[in-house]
Amino acid sequence: MFKRFFDTPLFITAVVLITLSIAVSYFSINARINILKKQKYQETSNEIKSVLKIFIDEKKEALELISLALADDIKIKKAIIDHNRTELNLERFTNRLRNHTEIKNLWIQILLRDGTSFQRSWTDKSGDNISNVRLDIAKVVKEPRIMNSISVGKFDLTFKSTIPIEENNEVIGFIESIAKFNSITKKMKQRGVDMLILVDDAYKSQLKYPFTKTFVDEFYVANTDAKPELLDYVKHFGVEKILGIEEYFVAQDIHQLITIFHLNDVNNDPMGYFLHFKDLKSIDLEPIMRIRDRLVLLSSLAILLLASAFYYFYIKRYRLFMDKLNEKLEDEVANKTLELEEKNENLRHLAQHDPLTQLPNRLLFMDRLEQAIKQAKRRESTVSILFLDLDRFKEVNDTYGHEIGDKLLTETTSRLSASLRECDTIARLGGDEFTVIVEGLESKQLMVVVQKIITAMQAPVKINTHLLHASFSIGVSSYPNDGDSPDLLLRNADTAMYKAKESGRNTYAFYDHTMTEKMFARIIMEREIRKAIEDEAFHINYQPKLNARTNTVIGLEALIRWNHPKKGFISPVEFIPLAEEIGLIDKIDEWMMRNSLKTVKKWRNQGLSFGRLSLNTSMKQLEDKQFVEQVKSILVETDCSASLLELEITEGQIMKNPKLAINALSAFRTLGIHISVDDFGTGYSSLSYLKRLPINSLKIDRSFIQDIVSSEDDAAIVRTIIVLGKSMKLGLIAEGVETQEQKDYLVGYGCENIQGYFYSKPLNEEDCCAFLKAHTAEELL
Ligand code: C2E
Ligand code: CA
Ligand code: CA
Repeated sequence: MFKRFFDTPLFITAVVLITLSIAVSYFSINARINILKKQKYQETSNEIKSVLKIFIDEKKEALELISLALADDIKIKKAIIDHNRTELNLERFTNRLRNHTEIKNLWIQILLRDGTSFQRSWTDKSGDNISNVRLDIAKVVKEPRIMNSISVGKFDLTFKSTIPIEENNEVIGFIESIAKFNSITKKMKQRGVDMLILVDDAYKSQLKYPFTKTFVDEFYVANTDAKPELLDYVKHFGVEKILGIEEYFVAQDIHQLITIFHLNDVNNDPMGYFLHFKDLKSIDLEPIMRIRDRLVLLSSLAILLLASAFYYFYIKRYRLFMDKLNEKLEDEVANKTLELEEKNENLRHLAQHDPLTQLPNRLLFMDRLEQAIKQAKRRESTVSILFLDLDRFKEVNDTYGHEIGDKLLTETTSRLSASLRECDTIARLGGDEFTVIVEGLESKQLMVVVQKIITAMQAPVKINTHLLHASFSIGVSSYPNDGDSPDLLLRNADTAMYKAKESGRNTYAFYDHTMTEKMFARIIMEREIRKAIEDEAFHINYQPKLNARTNTVIGLEALIRWNHPKKGFISPVEFIPLAEEIGLIDKIDEWMMRNSLKTVKKWRNQGLSFGRLSLNTSMKQLEDKQFVEQVKSILVETDCSASLLELEITEGQIMKNPKLAINALSAFRTLGIHISVDDFGTGYSSLSYLKRLPINSLKIDRSFIQDIVSSEDDAAIVRTIIVLGKSMKLGLIAEGVETQEQKDYLVGYGCENIQGYFYSKPLNEEDCCAFLKAHTAEELL
């Protein structure tokens, strides 16, 4: 990402611009400094030249003044007029000048009117005519005037000032002062400037007696203090070349600023050259350097400013970039978090709710119950659970299918919700089980709630074209009375619900502790029945059925006996209904059938006769298609014919669903098995069904026989049953006959078949065998 950022046009532009500005400022500062330096050199050179001019003028002036003064000197005039030069001492005069003024080298000559040398300060020689050798003198002689000049003579380059000496307005002679340049070079030296005074090569032939005897090429060096190294330099560099320089020249190799002053003669031809050498170091460049420093500082600042500006924009852009990136990332993170939260929420909802009704499931219910209990503990109040179980929901599912079943559940849910407060938690535990948490209600108020639910369920539910009747069996348990943990409260509400179911459905029951005790007993019993089946702890008693008139055994009813190793004898009345409920009855009856048939087969093989063997069966079993096959295979297994067998089924069970009974029983009838209606008279049979039932006989219930002698009502019922059976051509038998009177009454009204203690109690195998033997023998007698 950073790499990408360094590649941005802004970054490249910044680098290019900054580099460019550094380069531009470097060059422009340099150029500026060079100009300034040139200016400075120019100035210095100008200054040198003007100083030189001043010095030359001063020199000229001084010479002129000296000449003027001498031209007026009376002694000199007198000497010329007298033509006597003995009194004159020019040398003394020049010595005095040398000692008391700056004028060190001065030569003075007095000329006569015709140009003849009258007196010289440097020699005693005189009398020679100068105008012959010197053109300037010749001109002055011809036309006397003041003449100042710089010129090259036989000896040297010199200043000359020639003034006419007058007496009575008549020129009598001339005074001439001659000086060399030494004082100028000295003064210049004091100003830090070394000098070379060169005389043009054109004058070489004229310099017959060169004073310094020093030459550079053909050029005469006129000053006595010329530095040899400078002469070397000029020589080396080339005199012509150096003299070609217009104004000044920077000789970097010797660190000198060379300034040249051109001296021309009267005809404006080059005569001499004043070369000035000034050490570059002595030229004060400090201000320029200061300017340069200032410029460097300024441009550095400018560049820094530029760089900062770029940096600022860069950072700004970078921040913007980062901000955007951050923003984008934050957005993404936020979105993802939201998505995850939604997903989590969905998952949580799924995990805690029932998909069909959207009600909380067991998990959430238990959680809420726990919270409610905690709160109730704190507030010292109550929490109650209603455990609701839809009555006969399985039948709805079996008859109409699951789709209708589901719709019934959803409709039930909305009715439940409508009849409860919003703060009450409704949950579906599964199947047709619902639970409700109700907080802070007394039992009276709870009863009202329960009643509201029952009322809400009263109207039939219309699903598609079906009108269904739904109702709840409701169990109620409360904290703190019925338990202080969610599990216990739920279990107890469940127990109470079972109680409600038992008491006939569409009702409710409040939990009390005896329920649990019963429940426990049931649970223990259940475990023991299973164990008894495994351990073959059951055995069979047989109760004979006799024809009272012939005194013969017409049948045996097989009755189960359970002698519990610890509890002793347990009545089938206690455990058979439970076995039916928990689905163990088929195992028990299968066992009963196989073993009793084995026994009777044995007896038959012994030649004992006893009619049919009756076995008690429940309707549930008869409905089971597999049961028919099972019976068949047991008959084959025990080698008994179907005609030997009779199934007893109570009137109550048949009348629960007569239509179903008709079908189920037919299968057994066609096998040749007899069907007997047990406990007849207690089950409110409808005559129309009775006629269509494939049954062989009616067994008059024991309860009517008990008081048959004393109660006219019971006697009337028994008589009616006898008439009914006979008219329907069904066999008749009375059970529970204990006394002679009972037997006689029954026989008197036409019920000859008797079962009961009067003849025999149910007998074990051995006793029954003996009983059969006795009766067979009797019969045989
Ligand atoms: P149940 O079918 O009505 O059986 C007759 C019951 O009346 C038997 O009780 C029998 O001992 C009793 N009994 C017979 N004669 C008299 C009498 O003169 N006076 C009195 N007071 N009672 C008499 P048990 O053996 O206790 O059987 C009770 C019920 O248990 C039976 O009623 C039957 O419905 C069921 N049961 C017994 N054994 C089996 C079995 O093996 N399978 C099935 N499914 N049910 C059985
Ligand atoms: Ca029976
Ligand atoms: Ca009975």
